[in-house]
Amino acid sequence: MKKSSAASLPKDLLVFDAHCDTASMLFDQPWDFRSHPGHLDLRKARKGGLKAQIFAVWVDPLLAPHRAMKRALQLLQTMEQKVFQPKLAAKVTSTAEMAAALDRKKLAAWLFLEGGHIIENSPEILHVFYSLGVRGMTLTHSKNTDWADSATDAPRARGLNALGRQIVGQMAEIGMAIDVSHAADQTIAQVLKATTVPVMASHSNARKLCPIPRNLPDEFIREIGARRGFIGANFFPAFIQRRVFDQIEENFNGFAREIKDRSRGHLDDPDYLSRVEWEYYVRAAAGNDAVAMNDLIDHIVHIASTGGIDCVGLGSDFDGIPSTPTGLAGAAAYPALAAALQQRGFREKEVRKICGLNLRNFLRRVEQRGRGR
Ligand SMILES: [Zn+2]
Repeated sequence: MKKSSAASLPKDLLVFDAHCDTASMLFDQPWDFRSHPGHLDLRKARKGGLKAQIFAVWVDPLLAPHRAMKRALQLLQTMEQKVFQPKLAAKVTSTAEMAAALDRKKLAAWLFLEGGHIIENSPEILHVFYSLGVRGMTLTHSKNTDWADSATDAPRARGLNALGRQIVGQMAEIGMAIDVSHAADQTIAQVLKATTVPVMASHSNARKLCPIPRNLPDEFIREIGARRGFIGANFFPAFIQRRVFDQIEENFNGFAREIKDRSRGHLDDPDYLSRVEWEYYVRAAAGNDAVAMNDLIDHIVHIASTGGIDCVGLGSDFDGIPSTPTGLAGAAAYPALAAALQQRGFREKEVRKICGLNLRNFLRRVEQRGRGR
C-alpha cells in the first residue's frame, strides 16, 4: 500500500460482489428489479458500476428439513422472472459467460445456494442445482445441517461428518465453490482438510477486529489466502464492530416476549416465524451507533495483510442486512468505496483486485479444478 492523495477512480473498474440477498427480497416483496427501495436494483447497479453479482438463494433454516428445497426453487423462479430478462441481467454459470455478458454491457448474475439444508442431505440434489446453474453453496446458515456445524449453533457434527466430507468432495469435483461463511471453526478446519481446492468465505469479516463467531480468525484468513481462496468483506455494521453487534443482540433480546406472543399459534408456520423474526431484527438494528466506511475498510486491510492482497474482496450482503455503514447505503455507492480504498493507500491495481478481479480469478480456479457436469 502507498498513500496517495489525488485519487481518481480506475477506468472500467470491474465491481463484482460475492453475496446479496436480493433474490429473497424480490420473492417477498412485489418489487421490480429495475428499481426498488432496497440496496440493489438495476438502477443502483448501473450508477455504482456494479458489473457482476453473486445472488444468494437463501432459505431460512426454519424451513428445514422439508420445505427448504421448495423455497429455493421458488427463489430460482423469482430470479428467472424478475432478473434474468433480456433488458435486465444475464444469468451466468462460468467466467467465460460472465466475460460475454460484460461485453454486452449486461449485469452478470451468478447463483449460489445459501444453506446446505436446501439439498436435503442429497448429493443428487446438489447435482440438480448445478444443472440449474448454481455454482456455489454456503455449507450452513445460522443452524447446523445434518452434516456441517454452523458458527451460531451448538457443535454437533464435530465440524463435518462423513456425509459432509462427501458433499464437499463433490462440490470440488463438479466445480462448485465451497463457501464457508456461517460455518463453525471446526467445519472450516475440516473443509480445509477434506479438499485441496481453493475455498471461499463469500461474506465474512475478520474476528480480530470484531470478535464474533460469524467472523474468521486469522489462521483461516491465512490458510484461505495461502490456498488461493477468496474472502468477501461483509458490510453489516454488526459484523464490523462488536459494539454494534452487542447493541443489536440486546435490543433483539428485549423483544423476546413480544416475539413469543406473536409466535403463539403459528409454531407450524415457519414462513410466518421467519417473517416475525426478521421484522424484530430490523427493529433491533435501527438507530444503533453509526459505522463508517473506513471501519469496513479496516477489515479489508486486515484480511489483505493477513491472507494476502489476492484473497480479499467484497461480500456486501446487500438486501440481507438491516443497516449499512455511513455512505454505503446501497449498490450505487461502490465508487465511494473504491475512492475510500484509494484514500487508504491501496494502489489502483490493488483496488481493482479488491473490487472484483480477485473474485473472478477465484471462480476461474474453481471451475478449472472442477470437471463440470
Ligand atoms: Zn449469510
